Amino acid sequence: MGRRGGSFEWAVPGQPAPDAQGYYTVQVLDAFRLVPNAPYSPVYAITIRALELYRATHLRCPHLAVEPFVKSLCDIYGVCYCPSLRSAFSNCYDVYLRLRRETESRVKCSLNRTGQWRRNNACAACTYHLSGEEKLKFSMLVTMDGNDSLKRILRRHLDASYAGVDDDEDEDKPRPAPQSIEREDNRDIGNDIYITREAANRWDWETRFQDGKTVEREVDIRTEEDGDSPCAGRWHNMAKEATAKAWGIFDETGIFLCLCRHGFVLALVDMVRSGELSKYPLAIVEALLDAFGNDIGCGYDIGCKFSSTLRRSALGARAEKANFTSLVGSFHGHAHNRICQLSNLAAYVKGLGLEDLEGCERFFSKSNALAGSGRYASGFHRKQGIEEYCKHVDAFETSQNLSKFIVDNYKQALSIIAGEGLLKRQMASSGIESVDEFHKWLKEEREYLEGLRTEPVTETLKMDYYASLKNLQKAHRRQCLWATQCGAFIAVDPSNPTKGPGVATRRRVEREKVDRATQAVHALEMELDIPVRWTPKSAEWKQAKVLVTQREYRQRLDELERLVVSRMFELTKVNMSQTGYKLRKHISSNLQTRSQAIRTALGHYNAAAAELDPPRPSLSWDEVVEYAFLADFDLLRDSREDIRSRPWAQPLNRALRDTYFKIERAREEIKRLHVEIKRVITHIQDEENFLIAAEEEQRHIDPLLSYQIAKYRNERTRFASTHIRRFNELAKLPGRPGESREEEEDEAELDERYHAIEATAT
Ligand SMILES: [Zn+2]
Ligand SMILES: [Zn+2]
Repeated sequence: MGRRGGSFEWAVPGQPAPDAQGYYTVQVLDAFRLVPNAPYSPVYAITIRALELYRATHLRCPHLAVEPFVKSLCDIYGVCYCPSLRSAFSNCYDVYLRLRRETESRVKCSLNRTGQWRRNNACAACTYHLSGEEKLKFSMLVTMDGNDSLKRILRRHLDASYAGVDDDEDEDKPRPAPQSIEREDNRDIGNDIYITREAANRWDWETRFQDGKTVEREVDIRTEEDGDSPCAGRWHNMAKEATAKAWGIFDETGIFLCLCRHGFVLALVDMVRSGELSKYPLAIVEALLDAFGNDIGCGYDIGCKFSSTLRRSALGARAEKANFTSLVGSFHGHAHNRICQLSNLAAYVKGLGLEDLEGCERFFSKSNALAGSGRYASGFHRKQGIEEYCKHVDAFETSQNLSKFIVDNYKQALSIIAGEGLLKRQMASSGIESVDEFHKWLKEEREYLEGLRTEPVTETLKMDYYASLKNLQKAHRRQCLWATQCGAFIAVDPSNPTKGPGVATRRRVEREKVDRATQAVHALEMELDIPVRWTPKSAEWKQAKVLVTQREYRQRLDELERLVVSRMFELTKVNMSQTGYKLRKHISSNLQTRSQAIRTALGHYNAAAAELDPPRPSLSWDEVVEYAFLADFDLLRDSREDIRSRPWAQPLNRALRDTYFKIERAREEIKRLHVEIKRVITHIQDEENFLIAAEEEQRHIDPLLSYQIAKYRNERTRFASTHIRRFNELAKLPGRPGESREEEEDEAELDERYHAIEATAT
């Protein structure tokens, strides 16, 4: 950095010479590789090396913002830090990034890689189709989700009346926010990753429906009205309680992201002054259909609900024609209704392989580090930061891990398939003749659960009648109490005149209550056609009492499940890195120590379970967590009929069935990986050859461009040898299940698990 007047020189290769007026000019940039902080009369200039060091470090560690970096430069060069240095550095950094983008676009232009090329070719394993390759059920597996940590505060006029926002105010009538004082900034970073606000707004609530219908107002997709999804209503309490007022201080309120299954960024859209509205996933789906065409499988944590949103939108017909499938991520799937899981859970979806469709959570856990630097930045800078970060992660992290992903999945699939011998033995000892049984059980379970969904109307009425009789009984008792307590006449105490009329009023009120209760009883007797009123001794009374106890039990169970599942959702959002057993333990201990509400709900549940005839065993903490993971709450739900005797409801059989489906998915995974490995290897060769040819072609026409193409080639092919080495190691792996030591260990572990299940089942 150099300064006019020359009090210090930083990181300058040689001395920058100001001209006669003491100004650095653009030539300085050429000669000394400096970027000036202003087009005219620049005061500072920063070396490109310092800027590149900052860029690379910041992208690897997004917590590092401009200010601490400039301060550390000050420390190294023994200079006092002042804020103007920070803004000068920031200006130079913008110029530098602009230069990089300009160079990149020239390189891309010369290679004919413009427009939507980046999205169409985002991932070698997903998009580099080869002729004659095996057709997969899902041509591409992607996942999408929203995240609200990358918010940005909009700078506004300071308005005293808005500063003291009153929380008691009517939420529906937000006060108009003061005007923005941000300068209009029409710099754009292009749309090879970003979907523009305009494109997203085309799927606004006013315009997205195909049959002219609209909803009343735009609400979060989780609270949107929707009748035909089995999980309808399940997400209401999980939607962020956000109103226009709460979003008031922000402009962008987060991002909505779509990744391929290997983690490459396919599309990104800013959420603007809102929560997760339906228009964002719809805009993403449109971009996916444009780029990838048919047979896309797309995971989303509320995929079941989104599929009906999509169907009702104007995009629905196109998506259906392109065979677009909305799926549910395997972990989030556990929060869904069992009946929804039977159609959507990763383990039961044909063609899905071992894909968990949960990549977004992993991405967000890293990208959250960007939140600090974007919060107070300008709209352009935030967007620039996010885009740079996504491209960097794609080019240097996801690319490097691509072959690791494939190899790890391959090994996992092999070890799962290795369990097949054991499964067969277990099936034989449990008397299961063929795997068709498992398919049959799945069907039976679905039919059973569908039957459970609605309580028979007459039963509901009988319970209402029972409740109204109880009510009448109570009212009678109170009336009698008042009548006997005060005798047949009213005593008036002259010293306390209010007492007499008080009693009279009370008696009248009690009489009227009896009348009202009787009316209710009459209405139900007419409706149910009951000739003789039930009494506590009659059989119908007893029957209805049982029904009411059962209903109470189910309501307690619902409440418990709702609390546990929503808490689990929150915990997994926070801690996605742990999976399986460890995660369950973590959640279990967290639930115990932190949630009084769940503790109370569990107490209520156990009390209601004890009331049943015969009483249900009470649940422990660990069981609660286990049930929540397996969605077995739905199996507890039935209190009318004991389903524990049915083959599909028995824990051992359920475990065998799930193992069978897991093996099926592992086979599909291997099939997909074979396709992907061929694509990646072919892409490595083709890309290298193509770029070398382009470089050679430009060498004599435009040597600078040729040099930039060489740099681009280095970036694109950097991990080729790593990939090839990993694939070679994989090829040496004993492929036949049951051969490797690892698999034997797995088998032993599985055996142990089955014995444990067997022991608890009996
Ligand atoms: Zn991919
Ligand atoms: Zn669902």
